[in-house]
Amino acid sequence: MTVVYDPTRPERNRPTPLPDAESQSRLAALADRARADMALLGHNHDWVPAPEEGAFNVLVLGAGQAGLGSAFALSRHRIGAVKILEAGPAHEVGCWTRYARMHTLRSPKNMKGIELDIPSLHTERWFEAKYGRAAWEATDLVPREDWNEYLTWYRDVTGADVDFNTTVTGVTTPDAAGYFHVTAVRDGEEVEYRARRIIFALGLKGGGGIFLPPLVKKLPEHLRAHTEDDIDFDALAGRRVIVLGGGASGFDNASTALEHGAASVEMHVRRSDIPRQNSLRWMEFPGMQEHFFDLTDDQKWEFSLFNGGLPQPPTQASVWRAFCHDNFSMLTDTRWADAEVRSTGDGEEIVVTDDRGVEHTGDFVISATGYAVDLSLRPELAEFLPDIALWSDVYGPAEGHGMGLCPYLGDGFQFRPKDSASDAAKEYIPRLVHLSTGARASHGVAGNQLSGIYAGLTRVARRIATDITKENWPTFFREFKAFEHVEIEEVGPHSEGEPWYPDSPRY
Ligand SMILES: Cc1cc2nc3c(=O)[nH]c(=O)nc-3n(C[C@H](O)[C@H](O)[C@H](O)COP(=O)(O)OP(=O)(O)OC[C@H]3O[C@@H](n4cnc5c(N)ncnc54)[C@H](O)[C@@H]3O)c2cc1C
Repeated sequence: MTVVYDPTRPERNRPTPLPDAESQSRLAALADRARADMALLGHNHDWVPAPEEGAFNVLVLGAGQAGLGSAFALSRHRIGAVKILEAGPAHEVGCWTRYARMHTLRSPKNMKGIELDIPSLHTERWFEAKYGRAAWEATDLVPREDWNEYLTWYRDVTGADVDFNTTVTGVTTPDAAGYFHVTAVRDGEEVEYRARRIIFALGLKGGGGIFLPPLVKKLPEHLRAHTEDDIDFDALAGRRVIVLGGGASGFDNASTALEHGAASVEMHVRRSDIPRQNSLRWMEFPGMQEHFFDLTDDQKWEFSLFNGGLPQPPTQASVWRAFCHDNFSMLTDTRWADAEVRSTGDGEEIVVTDDRGVEHTGDFVISATGYAVDLSLRPELAEFLPDIALWSDVYGPAEGHGMGLCPYLGDGFQFRPKDSASDAAKEYIPRLVHLSTGARASHGVAGNQLSGIYAGLTRVARRIATDITKENWPTFFREFKAFEHVEIEEVGPHSEGEPWYPDSPRY
C-alpha cells in the first residue's frame, strides 16, 4: 500500500480508514486490551495517603501530550487524586488542531513515547486498529490529525481526569496544610483547586511566552500575528504576506496562507540557508534521553551552547508544500533593519527594509520567530519566581546568557530553590514541576517533545513517588508496626477435611 503524498491536498495525506464499523470495533477492542494490560502490570492497591477532602495529590496544568503523559505516568505508580486542568475544549489536545499547521508530525513514527510500559497504548497499535497494518507500514510520519485523535483515545483509555475549558490564572504559596491554591476561570467563572504538587505542562509557551522581535511588535496588531495566534487565514486571501523566519512553523504558515488564496508569500530568512540538519535525530538514544541530567554542569552547558536549544528544521514535505506555489519566495540573508506602515492611496501597507537597504512590501506579517524562555512572563509562577533557582544563579558562565534564564531543575524536573530562599520555600519549591521548554538546559532532549518524552515522564513520576514515600515515611512506618495479616492459623499437622490451599485469592 502506498500513501500518495500530494502537498496541495492535505486530506490525501491520511490513509483511507477501514470501514467505520470495523475500525470502531478494532479501536474498542484495543482499548479493552490496553486496560487489561494496565491492570496486569499495575500495582494492586492504593498506597498514597488520601489528600484532604476536595484537594488533590497532584494537579497537572495542561492536557497536551506532556500533561496526559504525566497523569498516566503517575497512575503507573498508583498515585491517585490527580486532576488535569485544560484551557481548551475536549476535542482538542494540545496544539495539534490549533496552531500546529503542518500535515504530519516531524518525529519519527517508531519511537518510545507516552505509552510507557504498555505497548497496546502505542500510536502504532492505534493506527493499525484504525487503518490496518499495511497503512502503518506505508506511513512515514504520523499525520497531525491522527496524532490528535490518538491523544484523545489515549486520554480516554488511560482514564485521565480532565477539567476542560479551565484556564489557570494563578498559583499561590501553600496554606498551613501544605496545599497550593490554583485559581482558574472555567466557563467564565472563577474556580479554585488545592493540591500538594503541581506539574506545569503548558506547552511551548510554558517556559515564558512567544517571541516577537521588537520590529514586529511595533507594527499595529491588525497587521501582524505570531504563528501561535489564531490567525484568520481566510482574511489573507488576495493579500501579500511576509513570513519572518524559515523554521518549520514558517513553512507551515506560509503554505496555509497560500492554500487560503494569499496573493503571495515572501519568507525572510536571516541566515544564508534554512536549517537542514536535524540534530534531534542524533539525540534519540537512551544515553541522551535518560541520562543527560547526570552529566556535569560544565558538560550540559557546553552542549546547550553548541546545540543552541534543540533546533528542528522543517520536514522536506513542508518545504515542498510551500515551494509548489509559484507565488511563494524565500529570501535568505535577509535581516530586518526597519519595519513601518505606509499609507497607500486607498489603504496601508507594510514596508520592511532589510540591512542592505532593500525595501519589501506586504499587507500582513506572520512572525515565525518561536518562543522565549523567561519565567517572569508566566503569571502562574509570579509568587515563586524570586525563590526559583535559574542556571544564571547557580552556574557562573550562564550569567548574562539567554540560556541562563532556564530554571536549574532537579532530577525529576522539579524547580530547585535558590540558596537565599526561606526554609518554607526550600520545602515547597521542589513540589512544583516544570515539564516545558525551560527544561532543556537541565534535561536536554528529555521533556515534553516526543524525542524524549518517555524519559521525561518517567523521571517526573519517579521523583514524585520517591518524595511521597519520604514525606509519609513516619506514617508508613507506624502503619507497618500496627500491621496485622495472620497467614498461619494453625501450627501443627494438617487436619483431615481442611482444604490445603484457599479456594479464592487472599489478596
Ligand atoms: C508546527 C509544529 C510542529 C511540531 N512537530 C512536533 C513533532 O513532530 N513532535 C513533537 O514532539 N513536537 C512537535 N511540535 C512541538 C509540540 O508543540 C510539542 O512537542 C508538544 O505540543 C508538547 O506537548 P505539551 O503537552 O508540552 O504542550 P501542548 O501540546 O501545547 O499542550 C499544552 C496545553 O496546555 C494548555 N494550557 C496552556 N495554558 C493554559 C492555562 N493557563 N490553563 C490551562 N491550560 C493551559 C493548552 O491549552 C494546551 O492544551 C511541533 C510544534 C509545531 C508548532
